[in-house]
Parts: sequence; structure tokens; C-alpha cells
Amino acid sequence: MCTMVLILKNEKKMKQTDEDLRMEIHQQQEEEANNSSEGDDIGDVAYKCFQKDLSFFQMERELKKRSAIGKALEKIGEGTYGLCDGCGSSISDRRLKTQPWANLCISCANEQERNR
Ligand SMILES: [Zn+2]
Repeated sequence: MCTMVLILKNEKKMKQTDEDLRMEIHQQQEEEANNSSEGDDIGDVAYKCFQKDLSFFQMERELKKRSAIGKALEKIGEGTYGLCDGCGSSISDRRLKTQPWANLCISCANEQERNR
């Protein structure tokens, strides 16, 4: 349990604030816009679009993970860390090792995935 707290606190500390992250993505996009030239062939354009999508995807994933980390820290405070938000049973150690911020057990996570 102690290691989990450390991992989560570390994760939180290492990350910039949400605002910083948004700014960074925004700047990146402006740079891309400035860089785009008339002479781009379709391959270049496609590649740039792909990169843009990727950064959006990464940001979304990062923000989701960060909110999950925040929740996990709250749960530690409440003493409910490691318990599934869906069914209340304990989340397996193996799952918590790879995803210390997990708030659902594997079966509830799969269920949620299916219902998406
Ligand atoms: Zn569950």
C-alpha cells in the first residue's frame, strides 16, 4: 500500500498542471499551423493530421489518467483504495501494479469497455 501511495504521489508531482498541458498542446498546434506551407503534398498533410490526432489522443488519455490518479489519492485518504468503485470487491494486486490508479476491478473495467 505504501508503495502505491508513493507511485501515485510521484505521478502527480511529475506531471504538469492540466493548464500547462493544454497550453503546450495549443502551442504545438500553432506551430504546426505556421509550418504548413502551400507546397505540402497530400502525404505531408495526412501526416500532420495524424500527428494532431495523436496529440489530442495523448492529451485526452493523460487527462483521464490524471483525474484517475487524483481519485485514487482521495480513495487512499478515505481508506477505500484498492476497492472497486463498481462492485466494491478488491482490485487484484497485479492490476494495481500495472495501473496503480485503477478504480475498477478487471471484470467491471471489462464491462465498462463493452458498454462504451
Ligand atoms: Zn468490480
